[in-house]
Amino acid sequence: MRIAESISRLGTETAFAVAARAAAHADSGGKVYPFHLGDLNMPTSQNVQEAAIKAMRDGKTGYCPPAGIAPLRDALAQDTNAKRGTAYSMENVSVQPGGKPVISKFLMALMNPGDEVLCPNPGFPIYESQIEFLGGKVLPYPIIPAGDYFTFDLDALEKRITPKTKLLIINDYHNPTGAELSAAERERMAAIANRHNLSVLLDEAYFETHYDDKATSLVSLPGMLERSVLLYTFSKKFAMTGWRLGAAIGPKEVIDIFNKINVNYESCTCQFVQWAGVEGLTGDQSGAKKIVDTLRERRDVAVDILNGTPGVTCIKPNASFYLYPDVTDLMDRKGFGDDYDAFAEDVLTKTGVSFCTRLHFGRPLPGETRRYIRLAFSGIDASDIREGLGKLKAYAS
Ligand code: PLP
Repeated sequence: MRIAESISRLGTETAFAVAARAAAHADSGGKVYPFHLGDLNMPTSQNVQEAAIKAMRDGKTGYCPPAGIAPLRDALAQDTNAKRGTAYSMENVSVQPGGKPVISKFLMALMNPGDEVLCPNPGFPIYESQIEFLGGKVLPYPIIPAGDYFTFDLDALEKRITPKTKLLIINDYHNPTGAELSAAERERMAAIANRHNLSVLLDEAYFETHYDDKATSLVSLPGMLERSVLLYTFSKKFAMTGWRLGAAIGPKEVIDIFNKINVNYESCTCQFVQWAGVEGLTGDQSGAKKIVDTLRERRDVAVDILNGTPGVTCIKPNASFYLYPDVTDLMDRKGFGDDYDAFAEDVLTKTGVSFCTRLHFGRPLPGETRRYIRLAFSGIDASDIREGLGKLKAYAS
């Protein structure tokens, strides 16, 4: 068969290749410390599980409206209004099988071939993949360290804008660095979007995986509600990655297009899973709170050990479940230079610690001099974090 030319532009999440390498290490008898995958090793709350089982038993197993069931759309609108100060109604919500489909459907709805799309780098690799697959042009903008936090390089972002730049992807509460905009930066980001009339995908997958205070959303700033589509997901907050439940939330005229795309793609998101989502949003919240408390403890354990590891420095993120330590000095001292693959392989073989590197999050930008790895602490208990990173520390000492 002759494969379509467009497939050559389709990227992937290469983290799955790291998982294969870790599995091979486990098969050969080694213990693996799985810092590579952004999945959670915690169960979905009992009440959410029960709601899905009840819905299934109640016969909620057929097709449902492409936009999603009304109680879920309504619950999502109310929840978003309460946490982000918006005034959405259910007409602004299109339920999706996960957060990820919001990325491609946003681009299908708003991007013409040749349009330029501003996109964070390092960043979630599916942005670049989908922009290029659908015929757009990626304009990467840097996420950079600024002392004890990571931030968005807004000077670089603004310099990249041309008359062809139509779309802006923002991942506030960022994968892989945990970066979030400060209040002043959020104002400036909104001003840039308004001034250049950009349509915005606001990926807030980690909005509620937030540790030391409350998250605020760019969508509540003047002009942003009208030009933004929010990516909402149940995956992280409710430990529901495999259930595939998320939503696009935005202006009705764009959400109507999402619904039309739903008709063409999935028809609808699994109905009993949607009923579980209603329970997640409106029922007992102790399960979701426990997830964040557990993640906070893991973050603190991991950051302390990493910052005591020779050749490694690690910023403590206030959001997401990822760490993005600078390992330049360690790689240099061990003689790896910028050979991330050889470094990751050596660490895996000698310590069992498995991780993604900077290369999994977009093509490195010109002038980048520091080297980073990404450690996810969502799928590994605190005791294994201590043990695994203890071995990494011994390797580095
Ligand atoms: N956006 C970001 C930044 C992510 O890290 C992820 C998952 O890792 C997603 C979106 C999509 O997640 P899901 O499709 O499970 O909702």
